[in-house]
Amino acid sequence: MIHKERVKNLNEFKSLDSHQGDYILYWMQASVRTHWNHALEYAIETANRMEKPLIAVFGLTSDFPGANSRHYRFLIEGLLSVKNELKDRGVILSIQVDKPPSAVLKYSDDASVVITDSGYLEIQKRWYDELRASVDHPLIQVESNVIVPVETASNKEEYSAGTFRPKITRKLKHFMRPLQPRTLKVNSLDIDVESADFNCEKLMKKLGLKDELTPSIFQGGTKEAIRLFNEFLSEKLECFEKFRNDPVKNCLSNMSPYLHFGHISPLYLAYKASRVGDCPEFLEELIVRRELSMNFVHYNDNYSTIKSLPEWAYNTLMEHASDPREYEYTLKELENAETHDKYWNAAQKEMVFTGKMHGYMRMYWGKKILEWTDHPEKAYDIAVYLNDKYEIDGRDPNGFTGVAWCFGKHDRAWGEREIFGKVRYMNDRGLERKFRIRKYVERIEAIENRLSRSKTFIY
Ligand code: FAD
Repeated sequence: MIHKERVKNLNEFKSLDSHQGDYILYWMQASVRTHWNHALEYAIETANRMEKPLIAVFGLTSDFPGANSRHYRFLIEGLLSVKNELKDRGVILSIQVDKPPSAVLKYSDDASVVITDSGYLEIQKRWYDELRASVDHPLIQVESNVIVPVETASNKEEYSAGTFRPKITRKLKHFMRPLQPRTLKVNSLDIDVESADFNCEKLMKKLGLKDELTPSIFQGGTKEAIRLFNEFLSEKLECFEKFRNDPVKNCLSNMSPYLHFGHISPLYLAYKASRVGDCPEFLEELIVRRELSMNFVHYNDNYSTIKSLPEWAYNTLMEHASDPREYEYTLKELENAETHDKYWNAAQKEMVFTGKMHGYMRMYWGKKILEWTDHPEKAYDIAVYLNDKYEIDGRDPNGFTGVAWCFGKHDRAWGEREIFGKVRYMNDRGLERKFRIRKYVERIEAIENRLSRSKTFIY
């Protein structure tokens, strides 16, 4: 079922049927999958109603802010399988190494309607604006990377999970509906479209990318996401409640890279998990926390900077900006994991080597950057920079929100102390008290040793 709340007209053309054109154009961008993709299914429904073929286009831009070889490789792995899966459904995909709006505009003149999915970052909103101004046919957006459409969940920036939770929970029953694949009536496989040579290495080369970072330990694509998720459901969901915070046990779902690139649907994950068993803690992370992040970036124009913080957090940090620091590190020292703190260094190395730091360690990691940098604004920028460079799930609403949380966003004021002011503090003794944290350090050291011997990575 495709709820009407997911569908938005991005330009002034309202009626679809009065528009002449040879085909329906689906611009795939944020939901890089054929599985549980409302935008794709809506495009197929539209094509069937107009009895026209459906063409899909993907613009692979070489200058997505902060993206490097690690991110592109994962994205391309997903695209590789999407091209074949679309073909199986009668849809031809044109992949162009170009900025997305230019790739779309090459095909939009002859289309009756352009349909796209939905992302919430500034650059994605800029692309929609560019197309809004230049597409001469209806331009329609369908939200499929959230369970509850962002503006339906709330019409304003939420203060915290506490204010957001009741709003989104009320709407879940309405939106938690499985999505069935539609059958396309007129296939487009004989239509000649321009497409880049479809091979991962060739595309990487065309984008000018060398593997400057080791690839992440995850392989892109829906199939791999579903395999990992099934493993999670059968082996880890049971212990998620008790051990999700424990970096030694590592019983997380590892879905964040796949969610970030749109290789898996959050609706599918929530639907599937809730059928396996009672899992409120997992649904809290996947729905409340994740969609609170979308709420933050959608409504807060400053989401990537310290200016996004609530007044109390910003003011208290600035009041303590010149407090003396016991330890102070440069970006380079932090990047190279050269601090006095072996737990922090292990977390940084986990991110650098594997492309994914454990969720609990991310909180500790961000808090310490604030503590060891000579100014909170600089610390904020460093945390965003490192997160986006090394995390395979970086450059995501969750990443911007995670960093903001370390600096007080979505949290309350705590007792005042040096450097942090009223922002919540974390220390290494907490790690030692709660977990066998030395085991975590040993695991990361083992990864480092293996990596330095083989240069290829086996987790
Ligand atoms: P699981 O625990 O299995 O959770 C399932 C899903 O729920 C996740 O995939 C994610 O989509 C969502 N989720 C879990 N925890 C959170 C959370 N705290 N906030 C919002 N959503 C959550 N997440 C990213 O996706 N990208 C980032 O770049 C990122 N950077 C972070 C930086 C900092 C400083 C902090 C504190 C958190 C960051 N997070 C980020 C949030 C969270 O740590 C990760 O989503 C989580 O660790 C991903 O692992 P998983 O998929 O195995 O999580």
